[in-house]
Amino acid sequence: MKQYEFWFVVGSQYLYGPEVLEIVAARAAEMAEQLSEKLPYKLVYKVTAKTNQEIADVVKEANYDDACAGIVTWCHTFSPSKMWINGLANLQKPYCHLATQYNKEIPNEEIGMDFMNLNQAAHGDREHGFIAARLRMPRKVIAGYWQDEKVQTRLGDWMKAAVGVAVSKSLKVMRFGDNMREVAVTEGDKVEVQTKLGWQVNTWAVGDLVKEMNAVTEAEIDALMAVYTASYDVATDNIDAIRYQAREEIAIKKMMDAEGCKAFSNTFQDLYGMEQLPGLASQHLMAQGYGYGGEGDWKVAAMTAILKAMGEGGNGASAFMEDYTYHLVEGQEYSLGAHMLEVCPSVAAGKPRIETHHLGIGMNEKDPARLVFEGKAGKAIVVSLIDMGGRLRLIVQDIEAVKPIMPMPNLPVARVMWKAMPNLTTGVECWITAGGAHHTVLSYDVSAEQMRDWARMMDIEFVHITKDTTPEKLEEELFLKDLAWKLK
Ligand code: MN
Repeated sequence: MKQYEFWFVVGSQYLYGPEVLEIVAARAAEMAEQLSEKLPYKLVYKVTAKTNQEIADVVKEANYDDACAGIVTWCHTFSPSKMWINGLANLQKPYCHLATQYNKEIPNEEIGMDFMNLNQAAHGDREHGFIAARLRMPRKVIAGYWQDEKVQTRLGDWMKAAVGVAVSKSLKVMRFGDNMREVAVTEGDKVEVQTKLGWQVNTWAVGDLVKEMNAVTEAEIDALMAVYTASYDVATDNIDAIRYQAREEIAIKKMMDAEGCKAFSNTFQDLYGMEQLPGLASQHLMAQGYGYGGEGDWKVAAMTAILKAMGEGGNGASAFMEDYTYHLVEGQEYSLGAHMLEVCPSVAAGKPRIETHHLGIGMNEKDPARLVFEGKAGKAIVVSLIDMGGRLRLIVQDIEAVKPIMPMPNLPVARVMWKAMPNLTTGVECWITAGGAHHTVLSYDVSAEQMRDWARMMDIEFVHITKDTTPEKLEEELFLKDLAWKLK
């Protein structure tokens, strides 16, 4: 994971004299240093900006510096915001306005006009907020005391979403084979996603992958087998099938790394020259942070890579997922999610088992090895990006994952069971009304607020299905958004 940082830009003006400006600069540096210890990425104090030129310069520098994943602004004192216009109009990086204050309390005895002139964020941050609103800037506003844990968590979460933007803008997706024949929702405009999201989505021949597979050595396979056996329980005698998956993984990884790709898609309809659909291979690649999408679904492959990068430690518990089937017993309404093989073990409740089973779908000459496990319980989200024709819509639904209520001993794949919000049937009605796909990214690490931040920064439509959503309200929201996005 690349070392990203964020820049702290503090607004002021010359009106207060050098002493006040020195105090502001010293405090801003102190705040950035202390916050950096609590935040997932470093916050670097850059400038106490007093002129149009200083702001224009720091913005130019931020745009140019690949390590800078965003700017955080704050106005300790009053900063007349016409001097921000030229800079903000050129800003190409994510932008968070931290409306905070150096002091927590109003000091009863000490407070006089000197104190008021130095500590006027309540006043300065409003002027600063106005200009961003007037310029229609996509920005995050976080208000609260900078040493409060809640404020630090929210700022950290926003930073991770902003890193998701940086990852998105440089993301390359490797496609093996086309989308599954006749499927609509996995299609999309690759020029549109590159323009909006930065994704470079291109195709490579399955035949070239087979060539790369044939060049993998037994020693390379031995080394990866050692990783598999250290991470997973081997519950099959068919070691050749596992070794074949290792061969596939090594070849796919070499091709992706050579091209700088962080996500890939393939399809069971195009395995020409391969004995098995990559199962364990794809699962272990996802465990290392690569995005994946089945049936040629390059949109979900890219989103998986982005959500992983936004998660804990730059590779969080986020998995390519598919809604498979329902349990519709009253009071026990659950969705069962899985895939024919490829569910990321980052969402496993326990140690995954490597099993081999027959796979009827596709042209598998031999039984593919795959990781089988139960997903963990906990609050999570499912995310789907769809192409509405002329624009992209990101749909997020809140879910609560549970320990699967039955063992399902004959199900040969990893499985996750969950309760969708507001409840299964209304949740399904909302999801279908919004046009959400059967493929999603399921994440325990990334929140809906972070996805909303990401969608705002990427300038795409965002739809959130929560415990309070009703089909009526949603239908109206979608109708109005459809009109708004057509005008935009
Ligand atoms: Mn699928």
